[in-house]
Amino acid sequence: MSARPNTAVDTAVRAPLPVLGRDVTVPLVTGGEVSYAALDYAASAPALQRVWDDIAAYAPYYGSVHRGAGYLSQLSTDLFENSRDTVADFLGCRDGDQVVFTRSTTDSLNLLAAALPAGCQVFVFETEHHASLLPWREARVTYLNAPRTPAEAVDTLERALADRDPYGPALVCVTGASNVTGEIWPVRELAAAAHAHGARIVLDAAQLAPHHPVSVAELDVDWIAFSGHKLYAPFGSGVLAGRADWLQDAEPYLAGGGASRTVARRADGGVDVDWHTTAARHEAGSPNVIGVYAIAAACKALTEAGFDSLVAREQSLVAAVRAGLAEVPEVKVLSLFGDDAPRVGVISFVVEGWNSSHFAAALSAEYGIGVRDGLFCAHPLVRTLLGSDPQDPGECGAPDAEPDAQGKSLNAIRVSFGA
Ligand code: PLP
Repeated sequence: MSARPNTAVDTAVRAPLPVLGRDVTVPLVTGGEVSYAALDYAASAPALQRVWDDIAAYAPYYGSVHRGAGYLSQLSTDLFENSRDTVADFLGCRDGDQVVFTRSTTDSLNLLAAALPAGCQVFVFETEHHASLLPWREARVTYLNAPRTPAEAVDTLERALADRDPYGPALVCVTGASNVTGEIWPVRELAAAAHAHGARIVLDAAQLAPHHPVSVAELDVDWIAFSGHKLYAPFGSGVLAGRADWLQDAEPYLAGGGASRTVARRADGGVDVDWHTTAARHEAGSPNVIGVYAIAAACKALTEAGFDSLVAREQSLVAAVRAGLAEVPEVKVLSLFGDDAPRVGVISFVVEGWNSSHFAAALSAEYGIGVRDGLFCAHPLVRTLLGSDPQDPGECGAPDAEPDAQGKSLNAIRVSFGA
């Protein structure tokens, strides 16, 4: 059975950068095959061809990092450390900033949470992805109500910070672009508000970095976290980049080889450890050099392609998808900040009277279109957008959640795309 092109979607979402998987065909429940239309980049984006080529060229030379005198170990160590420099350049890091390699955004934010100074107050909007909402629960955390405009977000943060203990450390955690609405948050203004009140700010750039240039220095944030697998480098690594001091002062995130400079037995039977104060402090264990090298390759490819052309292309797709959805009366697009908000290629919606999970399953089975359904690891936000009670777990998000008696959907459908 020969595959037919997925014309409805494929022509609309042709990308400026070559990615793997464009030619994958999938079976349809109605018979035959169709070329797969991957519209779930926000969950995990395919590898750029350039990423794949770079790691394929390196793979035969694979060796242990920081753990060998042989040529391949030395080469792998160089690639690993050079990748740190590439990521620092990509993120516009300042002198003295550290780039720590982690497994993902979730890992990066949990690392920062583990490194908070004693008594640190944390401020986070309830609209965050769970990765940026939940790691702070051991700290003194203030959850801020969902704002309905970017200006209200800044105002809400200002007011919360004005009430804080002015002498203790404080951290604001904010998402650059929502994984639900695609809306871009006023990061520079939030950073200015944080700093004006003596707080620091970490940017969850998981959804922003693949679509826009993000710079520690230009946005004036203290840390940026992102995941390789959303930045077209799906090989298991992530990044936390920014100020070194809190990280250097904290206990190592993981205890083990690589994080320790020297270890010696003590006379009393215990061990003394002298921990590194560089990024290595939080990178114990053999690192994922393939994942890290993949991230560096993606950073280079995106920089060389130029974000101007990527953004222009993506914005035309966002406009086309939104215009198409607007033609269907049963469709309601979810938005916190309204139609005019700047946004990346992430659009969530409900179809009146439809169970979103069934709808998404039908898109896959009947059309070969891969989307996401549910509450997208941002339950309080999606509940607010759907008009459900944000505090009531209810049936919301359950895979089989049927619309309520009024036909209101209890979960949503998301399409997302990019390079
Ligand atoms: N932050 C945002 C905004 C996200 O969209 C996601 C993933 O969807 C994460 C954090 C968590 O990323 P990861 O699963 O790679 O840790």
